[in-house]
Amino acid sequence: MHHSLLFSTFVLSRDAPSLCGTCRMLPPVFHYEFCSYDHEQELLFQDGFCCEACATRLLKALECEQSMDWAEEEVALDADEPDKSEVRKRRALWRSLLARSN
Ligand SMILES: [Zn+2]
Repeated sequence: MHHSLLFSTFVLSRDAPSLCGTCRMLPPVFHYEFCSYDHEQELLFQDGFCCEACATRLLKALECEQSMDWAEEEVALDADEPDKSEVRKRRALWRSLLARSN
């Protein structure tokens, strides 16, 4: 199951609340939909309007979900696949790219 985060624009005069639904401090700039799954694979869906700072926090939350998925995948690979050097190379590349964005 894949976690996802979708940002979209919205019609200011018709759709938007006056404050970000997450921090309730700033005006929203995006509509978002965040889908993730808990440890029992139950869907956790959240949507609303968020400010720029909260959009960044939501993106970091998605990155965290990705990192946890990769860690679980690596444990599974350790058990199933003796030669996983190519997978490790790809994972190291993606981790370095994510680290640069911080
Ligand atoms: Zn906010």
